[in-house]
Amino acid sequence: MADHYEVLGVSREASPDEIKTAYRRLARQLHPDVNPGEDAAERFKLVTHAYDVLSDPEQRQRYDMGGDSAFGGAGAGFGGFSDIFETFFGGATGGGARAGRPRSRRERGQDALVRVDLTLGDVVFGVHRDLEVDTAVLCETCQGSCCQPGTQPVTCDICHGSGQVQRTVRSLLGNVVTSQPCTTCQGYGTTIPYPCSSCQGQGRVRARRTVSIDIPAGVETGLRLQLPGSGEVGPAGGPNGDLYLEVTVEPHDVFSRDGDDLLATLEVSMVDAILGTSVTIDSLDGSVDLDLRAGVQSGDVLTIRERGITPLRGSVRGDLRVAVQVVTPAHLDPKSRALVQELAKRTKPGPPHLAEFHPGLFAKLRDKFKR
Ligand code: ZN
Repeated sequence: MADHYEVLGVSREASPDEIKTAYRRLARQLHPDVNPGEDAAERFKLVTHAYDVLSDPEQRQRYDMGGDSAFGGAGAGFGGFSDIFETFFGGATGGGARAGRPRSRRERGQDALVRVDLTLGDVVFGVHRDLEVDTAVLCETCQGSCCQPGTQPVTCDICHGSGQVQRTVRSLLGNVVTSQPCTTCQGYGTTIPYPCSSCQGQGRVRARRTVSIDIPAGVETGLRLQLPGSGEVGPAGGPNGDLYLEVTVEPHDVFSRDGDDLLATLEVSMVDAILGTSVTIDSLDGSVDLDLRAGVQSGDVLTIRERGITPLRGSVRGDLRVAVQVVTPAHLDPKSRALVQELAKRTKPGPPHLAEFHPGLFAKLRDKFKR
């Protein structure tokens, strides 16, 4: 950051009066009404910040000791800057663009956000919802004119319809003439002598409206659907804002999602895994028959084509993938235990042995579910 003394062009020993004089001289050259360039605006900020710091004995002392960081950037210095800016130029910062023209009562309505909770089943096929939305609608009494029927706005006596009043402000720069929104008509240029009693002259009233929407298949948590023009009506009958639906998909007890695929675990008893079996599972769209081969292993994945999610863009459904987990019995009655020992004698399985670490698809699927 530039040295404050250099910015103001004064020595380190400058008296408060010298600092003030230097600031005034620079502010006259650089202030945005005189010098609209971007460089000038930037320098004006620097100069003002330097003055903020050096004109305050306490801050100046801290700065001299090398402690300006607390006042740099967007800290206190910035607040000081905007205060001074306000003092010099009044509301001209924001309202400047509209100077000389009255503003319109008609404005666009605000956008609204509604959250929708969906089940995974809703996501597989898409779903229709009727949503109750608290919003603003056009006032039927005045149709957005804001006036009692049969009456009209009248030209403002104070600003004569311009919406602006000139004001002379005495400041460090001498007298500055600023243009400010007329307080009598709030800058509209007209006043409403007989406001509509149904809407208190707003042109719109609060209402609860039902919005019907077909939520497409394949949406995800966090996705926002835009419904243009379904937000609130604007003041004085201005155009409607937009309505956004933010989707949350509730976690499912069994199925999780991987892109357009659905994932689940199929727990298979040790004996079924050894002998093989047929099973009927409940997918999100009805039952599916599965054949488990004899000797199926933990981590084997059975893919059922096109029983996943219909993509948001596209029509071919994802797959349902089922990972097998073989469940070993934890307790056996003595007779069963004897049978397994008999089986061990007959099959002579080798001893446990090390192999490459392999967390298995089952674990991977779980990780995806947690994401
Ligand atoms: Zn009304």
